[in-house]
Amino acid sequence: MKKSRRNFIRESACATAAGGMAIPFSNLISANKEIHGPGGINPWLEISKKAYWNNVDVASKMAKGKPVLAVLKNNAYGIGDIEVSRILDGHPQITGIALVKEERALAVRNAGVKKPILLMGDFDSVLGKDLVESNITLSVHSYESLKKIQSIAHRGIVKKKVQLYIDTGLGRMGMPYHQAYEWGKKIAAEDTFSIGGVFTTLTSPIDFANEQLDRFNTLVHRLKEVGIHVGKCHAAPSQSILDIPGSHLDMVRPGILLHGSLPSVDHISSQEYSLQPSFRLKARVIRIEKLRKGDTVGFSRFYTAKKEEWIATIPIGWADGYDSRSENGAKVLVGNQLFPVINVNASHCNLLLGKKTTVKVGDIATLIGPDPFQITPKGFAESIKGHNYLQINFKESIPKYVQEF
Ligand SMILES: *Cc1c(COP(=O)(O)O)cnc(C)c1O
Repeated sequence: MKKSRRNFIRESACATAAGGMAIPFSNLISANKEIHGPGGINPWLEISKKAYWNNVDVASKMAKGKPVLAVLKNNAYGIGDIEVSRILDGHPQITGIALVKEERALAVRNAGVKKPILLMGDFDSVLGKDLVESNITLSVHSYESLKKIQSIAHRGIVKKKVQLYIDTGLGRMGMPYHQAYEWGKKIAAEDTFSIGGVFTTLTSPIDFANEQLDRFNTLVHRLKEVGIHVGKCHAAPSQSILDIPGSHLDMVRPGILLHGSLPSVDHISSQEYSLQPSFRLKARVIRIEKLRKGDTVGFSRFYTAKKEEWIATIPIGWADGYDSRSENGAKVLVGNQLFPVINVNASHCNLLLGKKTTVKVGDIATLIGPDPFQITPKGFAESIKGHNYLQINFKESIPKYVQEF
């Protein structure tokens, strides 16, 4: 039966409402209700709870058992902050979720996440009351942000803990460490809120990160010396967790490790850890066609057929967050075979299937996933000469299906 456009839209809306729930694959196909996701043609993400739980264990092990504050900023690097927060919420080694945007912190809390949530970024004053009432821990990073928090507190809303964000050399957010002692004392003297933690962010070069740690530890030591309770201290993103044992402090703050990738493609310790890529990016083949010798593919006529050969079209492109550099050597899995990408547009890409093919319209293509190596985040990053934070641009509207096993 042909679908009318109205039905299509109605069914799409249903699919969106169901996003994030685990829906058995076979149900979707047989019920034929889903346009997106496993039963539809548009790209979708399958997220593995098992892989996330494994990666938390691995990250904590890297830090000799320290608890993990999961950094899920930028929509969990494209995988879905709500979905990943829900997955991590029950893990015993997760001490909290750290986010950068206040709206996302509220969205994650409203999605039912129970663990502590730390807002590392700034917030719009109009949302201050909501944030505090939603039990989101605010960061103080300047005199202005202190004023904002004081004004919420003075309206009688809080007796809450805040965390002090110290800039030890990244130069992005936080009170510069050389001005932070007097500032910290002033905050400690507040009677409407108290200090629950102190944190900084380390840069990648090891010698400078060590210098940053010295600056941080000296400050914390001085505050403690005058009897100030500083709470939990944390500093280490994934790179420092691996490189600098002294950075582990009271907890570690990984982002990329939780999704199953090391922070850099060529990290030397890459063989020692059993991280698991946590997601599969999939879409269906929507067209196959035979090229004649000399036919070309793409706006720029990027690919020219040297002989008769089959190509497939997949409805995913750079506007969905699939890297346009894929046409320079990335592979895609269809069935149990890998095919090279020969063209990426905004909404589509093309695969080269070869002289003969068994690939059919409707077959599922896996663009990124845990196996084989060529389509893993690491293998993919290598093939396009990119970095391991590759999924960061996945479009928010791509539906997510959590696999509960
Ligand atoms: C992004 C970020 C992290 C996590 O970084 P990864 O490299 O993904 O581990 C930790 N802390 C802060 C403040 C960040 O902004």
